[in-house]
Amino acid sequence: MMSMKMMIKQLVGGIATSSILAPVMRRSLQSSINIIYYHRVGTPPSYYKSFFSGCTYERFERDLDVLQSYFQFVSLEDMLLGERVTGDKPAAALTFDDGFSLIGNGVMDLLNRRGIRATTLVITECLDNRQLMWRHKLSAVLAETPNAQALRAYNQIASANALPTASSPSEIIRVSFEMPMETKDELMDEWWARCGMQPLPAYLAAHQPYFTWEELRTWRKNGHSVGLHTATHVSCSRLAPDAVDKEIVAPARELRTALDAKVLPFSYPFGHRLPPTIAESLYRDGMIDCVLGIQGYATVGAPLHRLERANGEVELEYSVLGKPALMNARRAMGF
Ligand SMILES: [Zn+2]
Repeated sequence: MMSMKMMIKQLVGGIATSSILAPVMRRSLQSSINIIYYHRVGTPPSYYKSFFSGCTYERFERDLDVLQSYFQFVSLEDMLLGERVTGDKPAAALTFDDGFSLIGNGVMDLLNRRGIRATTLVITECLDNRQLMWRHKLSAVLAETPNAQALRAYNQIASANALPTASSPSEIIRVSFEMPMETKDELMDEWWARCGMQPLPAYLAAHQPYFTWEELRTWRKNGHSVGLHTATHVSCSRLAPDAVDKEIVAPARELRTALDAKVLPFSYPFGHRLPPTIAESLYRDGMIDCVLGIQGYATVGAPLHRLERANGEVELEYSVLGKPALMNARRAMGF
């Protein structure tokens, strides 16, 4: 049965897209910096099963039909430069978090055919498929290990490290957030081994989830762009001050140099923000050219180190049209 919350979301999404309100919607979305984010497109391998929200290639293609009927896509770079669009559709930029390859699955070709220039935000240690991001390790272990074994092995490691234990495999997804950012990969690797998973290099070679450096160059040659999503997908709100260099400054420099990128956007893993003074100084020092959260859309004129995005993966119309328009209306009315 559909929950009340779902019904309201569908209703708001429906109202937002109704023809009577379309001009109001358009005006509202002209006053915000509209950036939309996705992660992985396609049926999910084990490393993505825990996070899959139904975004197959076919679904994504349909999403683009809807999005292009409301928005005119511009590159994130043009949006940051404040380029004005002609025509009455509001501008929007499209981004992908976590650096999944968009080439082998045909997404780049689809974007090219539609004239959409998008931005991939990469986890630099995962480039060339040298590492599996810790949340993707979590999903792979859960998908490939019998429940009781996965739970027992997880709880042994959690107890030994004074971390919260889980009462069910699905609860591991939540409690594992408590892992210290410095040791998350070691702890996940220990769990991986205890569950008898195949060696990580073999798993990575078989699946190749992420962009390679070579593919990033191809992506850029096709008019798309690259940004940073930290070195290891840390929670930036729990990042030790001395880890900012390793997670953000050094990988930003590496990307900029290796790709000769003039503009380098940055997005927060999990939407977890840095202390505002640190985010602002990274931006002012020119390490990164914008900072992207996940709380809807920022208003036109917002500082570039305080931008936000809407999620296209769930309840598309509500998330990228209805909810942001309601938020803009609320801001305009001053409450
Ligand atoms: Zn992410």
